[in-house]
Amino acid sequence: MKGQTALVTGASSGIGRAIALALGQAGAQVVVNYRSNAEKAQQVVTEIMDQGGKAIALAADVSQEEQVAQLFAETIRQFDSLELLVSNAGVQQDAKLVDMTLAQWETVLASNLTGAFLCTRAAAREFLRQGPRPESRALGKIIFISSVHTVIPWAGHCNYAASKAGLDMFMKSVAQELAPQGIRVNSVAPGAIKTPINEEAWSTPEAEAELLKLIPSGRVGVGADVAQAVVWLASEAADYVQGTILYVDGGMTLYPEFAKGG
Ligand code: NAD
Repeated sequence: MKGQTALVTGASSGIGRAIALALGQAGAQVVVNYRSNAEKAQQVVTEIMDQGGKAIALAADVSQEEQVAQLFAETIRQFDSLELLVSNAGVQQDAKLVDMTLAQWETVLASNLTGAFLCTRAAAREFLRQGPRPESRALGKIIFISSVHTVIPWAGHCNYAASKAGLDMFMKSVAQELAPQGIRVNSVAPGAIKTPINEEAWSTPEAEAELLKLIPSGRVGVGADVAQAVVWLASEAADYVQGTILYVDGGMTLYPEFAKGG
């Protein structure tokens, strides 16, 4: 990733943080986007710089068109070019369908789906504007952080599952549309990864034991599991990979309840 700039949305915590660190280690200049926690974003920047990398932290709510425009303009102003967008920012606001407010529905769709649209459009415009660059065979690369809940229905989380299922078809449509121009578009779909978004599902031994029943590989994932998949998808080694969803889920999508017979 030497000489390439990577913008990671929602990178002050969890999976985004792990992706930013891994891309920094792989030689990329990293833009650590965050919505509100400047201090945590700065810690990620400091960690990348301590490893000899280059990084900056930029605030933006990815669901806001004007803030996304500023995020990309500032990225180019500071790093001159952009080679990779990792659209990772996402939220959960859980409720049973009958209790779900319109605000809960709209908040999740705004960050998880509209945010991905706004950032993808800005990245694609930038890739087309800057033209081919020697650092990468692709004109540009976009990687979404999807979820196993595009194929596993999730009671009590219908807003989240719908946003991620929408993201998958958005990814495939955009991958089809942008392939002729040399822009690579793919997704990584994590299973259960230990981050703040799902802390109650793994933070006590009892909760973790319940969760492990759903994971054939026998462990809950960590951010680095997802980050390494992202680094590979962004690399030249994956230059022929287009419109793919790479599951990083310890087998969660393998119908674990059928492991001992149906
Ligand atoms: P997290 O809560 O640590 O990270 C999400 C980050 O996105 C936060 O830093 C948050 O501030 C940021 N964010 C949310 N809305 C934003 C907005 N509008 N603008 C800018 N930033 C915004 O949780 P995480 O698990 O690291 O989640 C990262 C991504 O991975 C999310 O898209 C999530 O849906 C996805 N994911 C997580 C898991 C898991 O098990 N942890 C599984 C599948 C998918």
